Order: sequence, then C-alpha cells, then structure tokens
Amino acid sequence: MDMRSVNSSLLSIGRWLRRGADAVGRQVFPPICLGCGALVGTHGGVCADCWRGLRFVEKPLCDVLGTPFAHDMGDGLLSAEAIADPPPFRRVRSAVQYDALARAMVHRLKYNDRTDLAPVMARWMARAGGRSTFPQIFIGKTHVGGCDELHALEHRGKLDDLLRSAA
Ligand SMILES: [Zn+2]
Repeated sequence: MDMRSVNSSLLSIGRWLRRGADAVGRQVFPPICLGCGALVGTHGGVCADCWRGLRFVEKPLCDVLGTPFAHDMGDGLLSAEAIADPPPFRRVRSAVQYDALARAMVHRLKYNDRTDLAPVMARWMARAGGRSTFPQIFIGKTHVGGCDELHALEHRGKLDDLLRSAA
C-alpha cells in the first residue's frame, strides 16, 4: 500500500467518523436556532423572532449592484450608483441586509468555526443569486450568462457571430 492509498484510507475513515459523530450529535443535542440559540423544531433553521429580524434582499432591485429599490419599476433597471460608477463586474447579489443578526451569523461562521451555519447561508445565497450555472461567461466585453445561455446562443446560431466580433 503506497502513501497515497494510506492517505486516502485515512481520509475515508475520518469522514466516516465525522458523519457518525454528526449523527450522534444530532441525537444528543436538541435543535437550536442558528441566530440566537433558542430551541426550535428542526436542526439547521432559525426561530420565528430571528426570521423576522433577517431582512432578505428581494426585488425590486438594481440589476447590477443588487441594491433594493423602494418601488417596482420593472426588471433591468440600474441604480444611480451603478450608472454613475459602473463596477467591473456584471452582477452581484446579497441574500440579506448586513445588519445585527446577519453580521453575527457571518462572524460566527468565519471566526468561530460554526460550520453548521454554512448549509443554511449557502441556500440563502443560492436563492439570492438566482442563477443555476457558474461561472458567468463573457465573450469579449459581452456578458453571455451561464452555460444555459451559451447553449441558447449556439442554438439560435448567434454564437459564431459573437465569437468573430470579439476576435
Ligand atoms: Zn433565534
């Protein structure tokens, strides 16, 4: 057995032990709110009070910066900030406004090794991103989108033209 096999076996054993410990931990420790630590019905959630305290970033919002608008004036609108100082990226989104509870949760994840927060926060971020494919593709300076949009471009016979124009 070479060292690579030994390392692989040790990693497998470690993963198996960690899964076992997680399963035992879920049986021993009751589910608590990821925000305040109050008892809740299921693991990996927040209590009603914390849920109300999270301010999710929802439409209407700036198409580039993702900052919320007070009124819905349709899709594709840009904020004054995005127009005045266009960022070097196509699109950014936030799941929740970064205030007291959100900040506390991010700090617990980053600095206190609270990796149990990661699955919930990842689901919130995926929902906010709203795109199912990554990375976002650019041809020259033209934003195409993800893999689905690239295939749609090819299906419509427009991909070759875009590639030629960018060359
Ligand atoms: Zn709570």
